[in-house]
Amino acid sequence: MTQKTVGIIGLGRMGNGMAQSLLREGFKVFGTDVGDTQRQAATEIGVHVVSDIKALCAESNVILLSLPMAKHVQAVIEGKDGLIDHAQPNTLIIDTSTSEPDVTRALSAELAPLGHGLLDCPVSGGPAGAKAGTMVMLVGGEPNALERAQVYLDALSAKVVHMGASGSGHAAKLINNLLCAAHLVTTAEAIALGAKAGLNPESLIAGLNAGSGRSAVSEVNFPHWILSDSFDSGFTMGLMRKDVRLAKDMMRDMGLALPVAEQIAEMWAQSATTIADEKDFNCIVKNAGLGE
Ligand code: NAD
Repeated sequence: MTQKTVGIIGLGRMGNGMAQSLLREGFKVFGTDVGDTQRQAATEIGVHVVSDIKALCAESNVILLSLPMAKHVQAVIEGKDGLIDHAQPNTLIIDTSTSEPDVTRALSAELAPLGHGLLDCPVSGGPAGAKAGTMVMLVGGEPNALERAQVYLDALSAKVVHMGASGSGHAAKLINNLLCAAHLVTTAEAIALGAKAGLNPESLIAGLNAGSGRSAVSEVNFPHWILSDSFDSGFTMGLMRKDVRLAKDMMRDMGLALPVAEQIAEMWAQSATTIADEKDFNCIVKNAGLGE
């Protein structure tokens, strides 16, 4: 049997981890990135790093994207010397970036008449999940594209949920991250209240995790990255602020007034004045009652 190939555009924290999972599962992995450090790191783990998208397309007709924002996804797909210019016939693009539903739908409509497929497959699980192949993927797109992608998604994830048509994976991911952003704030406030009432934070988290107040934030973020003071999850304030801003845009576009979500979004937007983009996203708790 011939070895399956895949090309990755974006070899950052998530792209590098996904490359490791695909290599472990026996795929031949090609990749490209605009950053020298990322290219070097990918070469060291066994990725065949190529110079540009044209060279990547020559190697595979399945291309995985792991890029910061929708504008980067647009640039690599429809920009000069991008995927539309160089893709092999019948290329499948698997976009794991947390991007914008409207942009995804428009790109999908642009690619379909050219014979290419686009799946939105945003992920949860962070760099550790990407590296372990245990991410959760919320997929938007055509069922036949999902069927073709399945072998790649199996190598990357513990669970795949098909949300529906193109863009619905990205919409679901923004809603998920809005909730995560809210849980960070509400759980930090709960711990601050507990501390004032004389409770030990570690004991309180253990108690909450045994009860109905728990969430992924109380079960994972607080023990691993917040109470341990490590703040090294691999997901940045800048990227989470982007996600919360996009979720707020969705609320506006839908004409929905969701006062608590809007207050959370405002708090994350305001945090740009005190917490730099490069900092770990868990640092938001310092603006929510757990400041030094
Ligand atoms: P990152 O900044 O570490 O990686 C993105 C990479 O894309 C960088 O290496 C950058 O150089 C590269 N890039 C940008 N423009 C490019 C272009 N035109 N051509 C080639 N490469 C280009 O970001 P990340 O943390 O890996 O996140 C990637 C995506 O995954 C984001 O959308 C993020 O919101 C999402 N995400 C991240 C996490 C996490 O924990 N880090 C978790 C879930 C989802």
